[in-house]
Amino acid sequence: MKHRPRVLVSACLLGAACRYDGKSQALTELDALLKRCEPIPVCPEQLGGLPTPRTPSERLGGRVISREGVDVTDAFARGATETLQLANRLGVKLALLKARSPSCGSREIYDGTFTGRTIPGQGATAEALTAAGIAVYDESRIDAFFEALKGMDYDSIQQ
Ligand code: SF4
Repeated sequence: MKHRPRVLVSACLLGAACRYDGKSQALTELDALLKRCEPIPVCPEQLGGLPTPRTPSERLGGRVISREGVDVTDAFARGATETLQLANRLGVKLALLKARSPSCGSREIYDGTFTGRTIPGQGATAEALTAAGIAVYDESRIDAFFEALKGMDYDSIQQ
């Protein structure tokens, strides 16, 4: 029996109300996603031990700082480690993560000033997954993500 490829997906993109503001941001392409892969929902900030809702945070240099000035670097690092361990355990090679998040952003992130400005860079979890050879896409590149999914060998997926 063939199995759909397992893909790590930001839980907020799947409709979980796990964002810092207690809301979700479900993908408009959710039905197509569910048909084509086996999504593994992850929220690295929750996995790192942060509450929901929570004060928003942004990366600043090598640290992650909340809008109130609290250093939450350790929680973000823990979330990245937990997510990577899960990916390795399940043989995941592909991820679809929320754009611009200080955990999940894969191409750009907020610049640490809480003014809405973005800079090139990755969130803590996207960075860890990328370093481990996992291809990370965000919802703004959903077509490229589906293309990458097509190229995956179903039979090579670990069970
Ligand atoms: Fe969504 Fe990622 Fe933020 Fe969790 S850490 S709410 S999955 S963007």
